[in-house]
Amino acid sequence: MQKSTTLPPAPKKTRGESTLAVHAGEDRQKLGDSITDPIICAATFTFESTQAVVDFIEQKQPREEYGRYGNPGEKVIERKLAELENGEQALLYSSGMAAIVGLFMSKLNAGDEVVFFDECYHRSREFCKKHLSRFGVTTRQVKTGDYAAMEAAVNDHTKLLVSESPTNPHLSIVDLDRFAEIGRRTGVETLIDATLATPFNVRPLDHGVDYVLHSATKYLAGHNDVLAGALIGDNEKLEPVRALRGVMGAVNSPHNIYLLERGLKTFGIRMQRQNENGQAVAEFLDGHSRIERVYYPGLESHPYHQVAKETMRGFGGLVTFLVKDADWRETGKIVDSVKIPRIAPSLGGVESLIEQPLVMSYYECTPEERRQFGIPDNMIRMSCGIEDKEDLIEDLQQALDA
Ligand SMILES: *Cc1c(COP(=O)(O)O)cnc(C)c1O
Repeated sequence: MQKSTTLPPAPKKTRGESTLAVHAGEDRQKLGDSITDPIICAATFTFESTQAVVDFIEQKQPREEYGRYGNPGEKVIERKLAELENGEQALLYSSGMAAIVGLFMSKLNAGDEVVFFDECYHRSREFCKKHLSRFGVTTRQVKTGDYAAMEAAVNDHTKLLVSESPTNPHLSIVDLDRFAEIGRRTGVETLIDATLATPFNVRPLDHGVDYVLHSATKYLAGHNDVLAGALIGDNEKLEPVRALRGVMGAVNSPHNIYLLERGLKTFGIRMQRQNENGQAVAEFLDGHSRIERVYYPGLESHPYHQVAKETMRGFGGLVTFLVKDADWRETGKIVDSVKIPRIAPSLGGVESLIEQPLVMSYYECTPEERRQFGIPDNMIRMSCGIEDKEDLIEDLQQALDA
């Protein structure tokens, strides 16, 4: 048995992101008078009597039942994330991909269609193309930022409009008001994967988007030590998604949950620093003679700078750039020459990471596919951590001069 666990609506956001990240969702006085939440390693939760079970089933007594349906620590994070995003409810998953799959599997039926802006996380695209198709769901991709094409792709079968903002790795910014408006006008629900933005920089629900998705593995947890994902939205819309999560079982271990809560404590100051580092590194690269192009929404040269400036508080730590006149091996040499960032996929953690998308994520694609996805051979993606920006810049300088 899995009881519906509708949570009370989160209070309207009144405090700053840092205060919320530290305090929101937590009981003031915790178990054992501890300042931190306990790690509750319980696969199951006990009932005092048969009557207690009946009371729970009849929803007279909210409480935990079995680990796959919820854990007290998970509830704390869910309340925290709901408040940070100004949403009614958050649902925590074992990874960002589990959250995407969880939403799609809950909302889509055979015969339904999904419309995507085409710049998107490679695995989201893969899930739609390879797997949703097996269940009779059609995916249509339109060019990122082409709102007319998105609207034109909507038909009677369309159930979901999906985009990232900023996109990965091109950092294109979606005009969330316009995107949400297409959904409202056509009666189709909208999802924004705001992993790269975080609620520090933008809150899509405030723009009328139905669901926000995060790979909490990235900025929210922030320390490259835990995988997690989250969906935030209205209680009513997320209720069936929560029920399916309980069946799919894509939940976090209590230890993971603790790492996520611990990581979130410093969310505000990390974002502030990563926004600063991203901007500084992007400006440095933009002025370097060996760089052909820099993709960063905080640069005036970025095609989406205007909409970014109007809707975002900062532009994050991810910077993508092209090396002038370099083939893929030459580009790889620059990646190999930096001394601070480590070569790795992922982003948003305290450690700076660097990678060449062609090698890291698109090596097995054909050149034609890479052209289609906008992944040139000379592209480098750097995720700025919280190191000193002067050191990151000096390091890039020596790598480019080498
Ligand atoms: C990393 C990432 C995901 C997937 O998240 P995992 O936690 O790795 O499953 C989804 N979307 C974006 C934009 C990401 O960067």
